[in-house]
Amino acid sequence: MTARILVVDDIPANVKLLEVRLLAEYFEVLTASNGEDAIETCENGKVDVVLLDVMMPGMDGFEVCRRLKADPATAHIPVVMITALGQASDRVKGLEAGADDFLTKPVSDLQLMTRVRSLVRLKTLTDELRLRAATTRNIGIEELLSRRLPEEEQTPKLLLVDERAASGRRIREMLAGKMDVDVVAEPQAAFFQAAEAPYECVLISTAMTGFDPLRLCSQIRSVDRTRFLPIVLLADAGDEARIIRGLELGINDYLVRPIDEHELTARLRTQIRRKRYNDHLRASVTQTIEMAVTDGLTGLHNRRYLDSHLKTLFDRALSRRRPLSVLILDLDRFKTINDTYGHDGGDDVLREFARRLRRNVRGIDLACRYGGEEFVVVMPDTDAAIAAKVAERLRAEIERNPFTVGKDGEAVNVTISVGVSSVLRGKDKVEDVMKRADLALYEAKSAGRNRVVAKAA
Ligand code: GH3
Ligand code: MG
Ligand code: MG
Repeated sequence: MTARILVVDDIPANVKLLEVRLLAEYFEVLTASNGEDAIETCENGKVDVVLLDVMMPGMDGFEVCRRLKADPATAHIPVVMITALGQASDRVKGLEAGADDFLTKPVSDLQLMTRVRSLVRLKTLTDELRLRAATTRNIGIEELLSRRLPEEEQTPKLLLVDERAASGRRIREMLAGKMDVDVVAEPQAAFFQAAEAPYECVLISTAMTGFDPLRLCSQIRSVDRTRFLPIVLLADAGDEARIIRGLELGINDYLVRPIDEHELTARLRTQIRRKRYNDHLRASVTQTIEMAVTDGLTGLHNRRYLDSHLKTLFDRALSRRRPLSVLILDLDRFKTINDTYGHDGGDDVLREFARRLRRNVRGIDLACRYGGEEFVVVMPDTDAAIAAKVAERLRAEIERNPFTVGKDGEAVNVTISVGVSSVLRGKDKVEDVMKRADLALYEAKSAGRNRVVAKAA
């Protein structure tokens, strides 16, 4: 995993020291000797992680961090603050400035590499989500990124897996008033609980008898419900090998006992902030995708969705030797409805028709608005005779019950024409089926409308 790391320190020897070690691990390294240069580099260069010295003349590290986090263009770049030993107050200040992680001088190799790698991994995920959000919807992304997440408003919920009751209590007390912690002693019970409740982070103590804590990590990573749940290991001194294995398995961070309250809080806050940010992006991507395949007026799937999905349904039917039918439905003399009740009245009819259509087909049927006042239903596992029956039932229902339009709820008589076609095993292509349904619809229209025509062959 290669990435571009920006090292910021006013003392050239310190810069050199970190640079050499990062280069040895094949990271790309940029350097800056003051805050202004650091910010400019972040704005222009593709920086993946910033290693930022706290003490610098002029603009200090806290201020640099604050400015980076306040600018939507750089807010997503992880910042690691490098603090002097034993300066707990620096960590709190860094946290307030929005730092993602901390390293203490002298920086150990294990810490440097694991922190940088874990942040690079997080950044890669965030970049991917940012890219998808930006390509699927250009509007809204900057606004989304600059909006403050509701992190302060909502108390985070954590799960702590710890066999030792006293240690569990101690951690809980450290986080009291800041985070809600559920403690579970038994690893398998913890796994199920993690999958069921909306936790934002799980802390796993490596001190387990008779169970491998890393197995629990890999279980959490392997199921959908918890795939994105941050995992923080609470390890003992001398646990380096296990920590490295854990990082390979996808844990997000670790702390070594004895656990420092400030460090614990800072690291958990970082994980939770990242998770909320990414959840937010993911939800926006999902929403965008939904918008792209949904018809805004009726809430049915749109033509784009049908075009991309029909082939799959068709191939599945052929390979399983199951029937499949298609209905194309078109509202009769819809122009007249628009002319009489206005475009809004016409829209009311389309919405109402979509509701009735949905009610009259099964959940596995795919109902779409094909365009204008034309709709398509794809019906898996349905032969021509049943499809024609469904179409006829719908046609009769539409004819029998007038629609209501406008504020006054005026009653409007509506009829539809329907073309039905079904898959002919072996020699059919998906276009043939659609074409036959279209021809059938055309016949229904020419024969006087308000009728169903089926073309099974
Ligand atoms: P036919 O019985 O032959 O289908 O006649 P028709 O009037 O329904 O067919 P035609 O395709 O000539 O006209 C369809 C009309 O549907 C024309 C168009 O203005 C209207 N239309 C298309 N989309 C919308 C929409 O979203 N809302 C409304 N209100 N009208 C629409
Ligand atoms: Mg029509
Ligand atoms: Mg039409």
